[in-house]
Amino acid sequence: MAVGEAERKRAVEIGSEGRTSAWTEIVSLLSNPSPAVRRAAASAARKLMSISGDLRKAFCIPLYMAATRETREQVLQYELRALEMCVGMTDQMVADIKDIARNATHADYVRAAANDCAAAAEMVIREAESRRKHWCARCRRPVTKEESAAGIERYGKPYCRHCLDERILEERNFEADVASAKRLRTADDVAVQSRGEKRIGDWLSRKRIEYVYDERYRIAGDVSIRPDFYLPEFDLYIEYWGMQEQDYLARKSEKKFLYQRAGKKLISLDWRDLENIESVLEEKLSRYIRL
Ligand SMILES: [Zn+2]
Repeated sequence: MAVGEAERKRAVEIGSEGRTSAWTEIVSLLSNPSPAVRRAAASAARKLMSISGDLRKAFCIPLYMAATRETREQVLQYELRALEMCVGMTDQMVADIKDIARNATHADYVRAAANDCAAAAEMVIREAESRRKHWCARCRRPVTKEESAAGIERYGKPYCRHCLDERILEERNFEADVASAKRLRTADDVAVQSRGEKRIGDWLSRKRIEYVYDERYRIAGDVSIRPDFYLPEFDLYIEYWGMQEQDYLARKSEKKFLYQRAGKKLISLDWRDLENIESVLEEKLSRYIRL
């Protein structure tokens, strides 16, 4: 019996009997040293994949590896024809198959098989891409591919149209705040960092509420944090969270936790309150003090 004849017969048998449960045997036969065995295994893989859709994914990597290291033209053709049925090829894998199609040292029938294989894989990739759901990174609503692309291009995240507009607006506001940080002063001449803080300071001085801005306070045992505003009369803190970047939000929740742990009274305001910051502040403050 020729070398590998038993293995070749086994591959043929698995294929012709459609024994999908024996697919891992076919995987190992794909790297058999005998070309005749590899050819029979590739042929069997095709048959099994036509029976079980799941195997189209399972065979993808083994067939790709078999094809990219194949030394026999005819066997390579079989492997490519089997790989053509697979799903799950990556862009890099497709590029490698295209290299085979472009390589003039390969037989025409191999290059044709590689071409078909790459085309089929690209179609699978495109279909998967169009089916893939995208969600807005902020409101979690599903977004269209176009919306997602616009957000990713600008901020590296998918946003719906509404949230992207908001995000751009915030960015502009924030840039304006930073640019004018040195110039912003409250009515009682305290230099503050944002328009939100200025309006908080202005409102407090109008109400003749004493406050300290942006000073270091030891509030939680050995941990000191720096509040935006501290009202010494009421032992109360006001924080204005003007941004919503990821690490900023992390610091925010950490800070909030420290206040909580220290049992401190904290009034939290954020960018959403900016429009009516005075009335929001008044409402929140009135829970603690009589205004
Ligand atoms: Zn959104």
